[in-house]
Amino acid sequence: MSVFEHPEFDSHEHVAFFHDSATGLKAIIAIHNTNLGPSLGGCRMWPYLNSAEALTDVLRLSKGMTYKAAMANLQQGGGKSVIIGDPRQHKSEAFMQAMGRFVESLNGQYVTAEDSGITVADLQAVATQTDHVAGTHAQYNVLGETPTGNPAPSTAYGVFVGLKQTVKHVFNSNLNGVKVAIQGMGHVGYRLAKQLHEEGAELYVADIFPEGLAKAEQELGAKIVAPEDIFSLPVDVIAPCAMGSAINDESLPDIRAKVIAGAANNQLAREELGQVLYQRGICYAPDYVINAGGIIDIYHQKKNDSSDSALREHIDQIGDSLDEIYQRAEEQSLATNIIANRIAEERFSKQG
Ligand code: NAD
Repeated sequence: MSVFEHPEFDSHEHVAFFHDSATGLKAIIAIHNTNLGPSLGGCRMWPYLNSAEALTDVLRLSKGMTYKAAMANLQQGGGKSVIIGDPRQHKSEAFMQAMGRFVESLNGQYVTAEDSGITVADLQAVATQTDHVAGTHAQYNVLGETPTGNPAPSTAYGVFVGLKQTVKHVFNSNLNGVKVAIQGMGHVGYRLAKQLHEEGAELYVADIFPEGLAKAEQELGAKIVAPEDIFSLPVDVIAPCAMGSAINDESLPDIRAKVIAGAANNQLAREELGQVLYQRGICYAPDYVINAGGIIDIYHQKKNDSSDSALREHIDQIGDSLDEIYQRAEEQSLATNIIANRIAEERFSKQG
């Protein structure tokens, strides 16, 4: 299995493989770029079929973190770790401690955090072996909830800030009376809906499970819509807050909204769809820019001198980053996702 010839290899600085015989841990850490600071990125545990599949994932995800951290104005680079195995079967405290020793062996060039299959308790086991862990204890909550370690409130606040800024850019208006269709009433989607409701937006919501929908209907006056209809409604904004690839060749032709601004990762099924959206006059808030509130939250948990207000001010910068993207997209007649990548590259590339 080659690394340097791998299609997802893109000048990654360091790719490290680790095996612990005592616990059976098999893990890979990829550090993509540390120009802005030590790399930060979650640890994902997944039953990968083989190490080639795990390598593909870690190379792709670590690069994505470099772009996300740069656009979120973090003094951090991009990295990621993957553990090969089923999180419901193969984890133990000793297993996660072995992962901690692996992280420690990179001397702080990689800081780990939560991702799929890894819990706060797992990270606490990692933290017995290394200081290079973020997100083990929550301290702040921008929505006034009790801090639990879940970054969803910060993500939802960031999406709210970004959506509001995008509406201002496109319609030159505030949110009062603006029609927003939200796909997914989960941790982020419901909190986004609540903030939008407080600013007078008219809400349409869809989910494949009823719990969040009933709450949104009763508490926020939202109208429930069938999942297959949510993106074709005659609304001003659609907010994908469920799974990836929501904007695809099937959903795109039916979209009537002028704004797409939501929390989901990898919203575009193909990068080229960004240009199609641009040509159709639909303003797309690039996913990794607008959904960065969670990683900003994790970053502030690691800082010793932060506060609720410092976290909030940092997340508010998502609006400024989007403004810069929209302005350049207009100047250069290019899709917002392409412009976002270029701005991120300018920020993390070494000058001179
Ligand atoms: P979640 O699992 O709490 O909520 C997702 C919701 O979407 C669930 O209620 C689910 O039933 C619903 N859903 C799934 N498929 C659907 C479909 N086809 N139609 C309608 N609803 C559907 O997840 P979350 O934490 O709210 O995250 C939402 C999205 O934002 C995910 O894509 C996630 O990767 C992304 N994201 C989350 C965070 C965070 O801090 N939680 C940070 C960055 C990005």
